[in-house]
Amino acid sequence: MNIPERLRHYIDGRLTDSADGATFEVLAPATNAVYRTAAAGGPADIEAAVTAARRAFDTGPWPRLADRERARILVRIADGVEARDRELASMESFDTGLPITQATGQARRAAENFRFFADLIVARSDQAYKVPGRQLNYVNRKPVGVAGLITPWNTPFMLESWKLAPALASGCTVVLKPAEFTPLSASLWADILAGAGLPDGVFNLVNGIGEVAGDALVKHPAVNLISFTGETTTGRLIYRNASSHLKALSMELGGKSPALVFADADLDAALDSTLFGVFSLNGERCTASSRILVEQSVYDEFVTRFAARAEAIKVGDPADPATEIGALVHPEHYERVMGYVDIGRGEAKLVAGGARPEHLPAGNYLSPTVFADVPVTARIFQEEIFGPVAALTPFRTEDEAVELANAVKYGLAGYVWTNDLRRAHRVADRLDAGMVWINSHNVRDLRSPFGGVKASGLGHEGGYRSLDFYTGEQAVHVTLGDVHTARFGAGGYDERDPYFSAARRP
Ligand code: NAD
Repeated sequence: MNIPERLRHYIDGRLTDSADGATFEVLAPATNAVYRTAAAGGPADIEAAVTAARRAFDTGPWPRLADRERARILVRIADGVEARDRELASMESFDTGLPITQATGQARRAAENFRFFADLIVARSDQAYKVPGRQLNYVNRKPVGVAGLITPWNTPFMLESWKLAPALASGCTVVLKPAEFTPLSASLWADILAGAGLPDGVFNLVNGIGEVAGDALVKHPAVNLISFTGETTTGRLIYRNASSHLKALSMELGGKSPALVFADADLDAALDSTLFGVFSLNGERCTASSRILVEQSVYDEFVTRFAARAEAIKVGDPADPATEIGALVHPEHYERVMGYVDIGRGEAKLVAGGARPEHLPAGNYLSPTVFADVPVTARIFQEEIFGPVAALTPFRTEDEAVELANAVKYGLAGYVWTNDLRRAHRVADRLDAGMVWINSHNVRDLRSPFGGVKASGLGHEGGYRSLDFYTGEQAVHVTLGDVHTARFGAGGYDERDPYFSAARRP
């Protein structure tokens, strides 16, 4: 792993420090040792990045290239990402604390995003409407302009690619503000993108603290839209700050997603899947099945088996291939998660974990934690913890299961476990969730919509929806025949004037 001496901004094709020289410290979650400093961007750095992106958009070649030409560069980016597979996995694991086996594959997924949008941009077609003999109306689709991309620290590189690929495919130029907890893997983009032939100024990156660099990006008048993934509270603030310029917003926010396990389900599969759903990626996963609702008749058995499996999960050094749960991203986040574990002790029955593993005295480690008999009113039922903490609750009827599932402010994902086909679809339909999986955890096709409802987000991305977000539709109306025009100042109306003649009739 080749860690740069300093993590810098990338503006107009050059690596730079902050205009005022400010930096912040970056920690390795397995030890909490400071391993590097990163440039802390402020308004001046955002100004420079937006100016470069604006120039590249207004006068550069990128938005004017044929879709096929942009697609070629996107494919080269995908190749460049894949070539860094192992380096990226090591960086991601080191910087985020994700187990190395789960960080592996992030490059493949990131590359896939570029390949997918390269394909989609050349396959895209737009509508035309013909009024025979009179008019042709067609949609002239244009990139929106400068896109501000703000991303979180869980799977940072992959989530950056999820925004970069459609934004660049559409012909936008971008300013990316990666999460301050995990700026390391984003340092790979400059090389990969320039190596693929992306013109200078099309991609710009400013590191820094959200309330400073992110805030300046949101408020910059020359930034046309903001794509944000992060916490709901941050999303609300950005929504307010973007309103004075009426910026387009896409928001992928928090979740507290339910898995509903009915007694007729394949319980072995449901057990494997719900354990993976809540404990993979250290539980720092927006679509985590963090509330597991189980039908009363199988509840005790399910809780016992779930807790036993959770106790057996291997917590350890993220770099160890045997590790299943690594270190949580940052001591601040660790304190927050541990705070919820304490709250949970007073609200429900702790049946597994609940403490730092004895063999890991330093770093942000927590044993997989399972609470049973969690009431709907509990904070650990209602609030997103974003760590390896599961809440199990029994239900008696289908109605009660749906009521419990929908009794939180979030609505990102839902998982339904049953072998009754009709119930599966009925319950899926009744869930307040942007995405539902039946008898599966989160596995998705890139064409399908991604996003949440209620406090989990605004707008859906995925497939053409992402291209729609980064482009504007201009309607062009072409006259094919004669257009009758009322002749103001030359004799007024005649009977052919549809709007006026009715009023003149006796
Ligand atoms: P966060 O909201 O704290 O930060 C996200 C990004 O926003 C960071 O880059 C941060 O610097 C920036 N930011 C913070 N304050 C800002 C401000 N005032 N103006 C502009 N930018 C600002 O979120 P996080 O802790 O990094 O990430 C975890 C959250 O992300 C969880 O809630 C999780 O559910 C959510 N998430 C959602 C999805 C999804 O697709 N729905 C995916 C991954 C993560």
